[in-house]
Amino acid sequence: MNKIYFDHAATTAVSKEVFKAMEPYFCEIYGNANSQHSFGQAAEGAVAKARKQVAAALNCAAGEIYFTSGGTESDNWAITGAAYANIKKGKHIITSNIEHAAVLETCAKLGKQGFEITKVPCDKQGIIDLDKLKAAIRPDTALISVMAANNEIGTLQPVKEIAALCKAAGIICHTDAVQALGAVPLDVKDLGVNLLSVSAHKINGPKGIGALYIKAGTKMDKLIVGGHQERTYRGGTTNVPLAVGFGQAIEIAVRDLEKNAAYVTALRERFIDGVLKEVPYVRLNGHRTKRLPNNASISFEFIEGESILFSLDLAGIACSSGSACSSGSLDASHVILALGYTHDIAQGTVRFSFGTDNTAAQIDYCIEQLKTIVERLRKMSPLFAEAKTEKKLI
Ligand code: PLP
Repeated sequence: MNKIYFDHAATTAVSKEVFKAMEPYFCEIYGNANSQHSFGQAAEGAVAKARKQVAAALNCAAGEIYFTSGGTESDNWAITGAAYANIKKGKHIITSNIEHAAVLETCAKLGKQGFEITKVPCDKQGIIDLDKLKAAIRPDTALISVMAANNEIGTLQPVKEIAALCKAAGIICHTDAVQALGAVPLDVKDLGVNLLSVSAHKINGPKGIGALYIKAGTKMDKLIVGGHQERTYRGGTTNVPLAVGFGQAIEIAVRDLEKNAAYVTALRERFIDGVLKEVPYVRLNGHRTKRLPNNASISFEFIEGESILFSLDLAGIACSSGSACSSGSLDASHVILALGYTHDIAQGTVRFSFGTDNTAAQIDYCIEQLKTIVERLRKMSPLFAEAKTEKKLI
């Protein structure tokens, strides 16, 4: 059985081109990028090139790119770094109730340290309510952090409008663009944000590296002290092969963005149309069009998402319930609950995320499998039996 991977929002394979670019930096060009000699200079040259590649992809200066270990670290740094360094402005932070745990838990940590956190709700389609965000702004608001694209339901947020509100009120604007990178254009100047988090492994780059864009002039606390790396803001010997891999991956992702987005959008549409037509009692989560090209989040009523995942896995199809980070926990997805749905609906949610290595034939096979799996699981579902007897089915 050929395995089918529909979990590109969780992670992606390192592309051959990226792997090839990284390879020499493990055993041949292994110098410490901070050493003065020729070994060090060769390594530093590679890191400088990678930094330029990331900067070019985001339309900023290389000096505004700081390498991190990934999206989680970038989010942690963006929020704590801006909060601590701008305490004179105030201790109020605004975020949304559908952020990734890397943002929500960092805010919760700050909450325990005397910062006040306001979580702005989203509408039924998962778009942040701008009026509520505007109303939440106070003179002591120092930071607003709203993600560019949601990792579970794929909704795209009005980051440019949020950044404009921030600018008018002298507030630092951060966006978690981990899922948006390579999927939608990301131009930090056009967006007007101060801070933007990205990660390599979502775009066919290696795991364990990401970056934080810090607009020149933004007041930030250092993340890791004890080294001169990343202009003393994040000390520690630079991981040269990973930086090289990230640089290569982001250059390719941005170069091929339009072509790739068109390809995966067609797969997504084929999948959504097929599932909505062929499988009864399902709903698509998130906005119908303002969503990531590769995301289809579907709630299957009366059954558990985990059971669907397990059955699909047996049929050779890999996807995810909610986000990869929260699957494994029995908690219902905070994102689906934030849309106003019940725990039962949240528990019946599955995220399918496509990539350019997927095909229309795989989509059709998955829809066929879903038809039988869902029918079989519903036959065993007390919730479905109850709904049938109480004539709750429409
Ligand atoms: N933010 C979002 C929106 C994500 O989807 C993820 C990963 O799934 C992260 C942050 C964390 O990124 P990383 O896995 O690079 O730590």
